[in-house]
Amino acid sequence: RRGVPFVLSAPSGAGKTTVCKGVIQRDPGVVLSVSHTTRPPRTGEQDGVHYHFVSAAEFRKLVAEGAFLEHAEYSGNLYGTSWAAIDAPLARGQDVLLEIETEGARQVRERRRDAHLIFLLPPSLEALASRLRGRGTERSEEIDRRLAIARREFAMAGLFDSFVVNEHAARAVDDVLAIVAAMRCGALSELGDRFSLARLRATLDPALAAWLPG
Ligand code: 5GP
Repeated sequence: RRGVPFVLSAPSGAGKTTVCKGVIQRDPGVVLSVSHTTRPPRTGEQDGVHYHFVSAAEFRKLVAEGAFLEHAEYSGNLYGTSWAAIDAPLARGQDVLLEIETEGARQVRERRRDAHLIFLLPPSLEALASRLRGRGTERSEEIDRRLAIARREFAMAGLFDSFVVNEHAARAVDDVLAIVAAMRCGALSELGDRFSLARLRATLDPALAAWLPG
């Protein structure tokens, strides 16, 4: 069996990194794709583990060589998933999780028919704002900027196949694992409308639901 590429996108503050970590810890059949970026490493980040850290010139050269499945700019830096990052694990039968922003998700949608796109979202606008504030380092203009980006990301929700609300991280991990397991055995329809956009629209905090495309 070939693996399935899973995309997990979420606005900043939705808890994407925690959920992705939980998924790969609980399911050894899923590996995280290591992206390339021109962003400088943060404290504790290792080259080749968290990202492949490259210069803008190296990144552009890789783009010209067709090395990327998708690439996008986010907050002034370039990010991309190389074909190399996903091809080997998929061929080994492992599923690959791509933790990427929505423009990248759009490109994956166009280029990989076998991909399954999951949108992770906070339970309410209030929770989103307070998670952004809770990071401490972010100033209020930065929070406003991230809320504006989040709003644009919500507008692209129509691209995605499944929607997971992250009210409690452990529960969101269970939900993603349920989607992964269903995709593996070709039984996604057995999940019914549990993770559908229609269900989300009907159950989400109205202030956030208003951000979803009509
Ligand atoms: P950070 O700089 O906080 O690690 O990531 C910033 C944003 O870039 C996050 O939304 C993250 O998911 C996204 N990102 C990370 N890697 C990639 C990638 O390979 N492609 C795209 N399109 N986005 C990425």
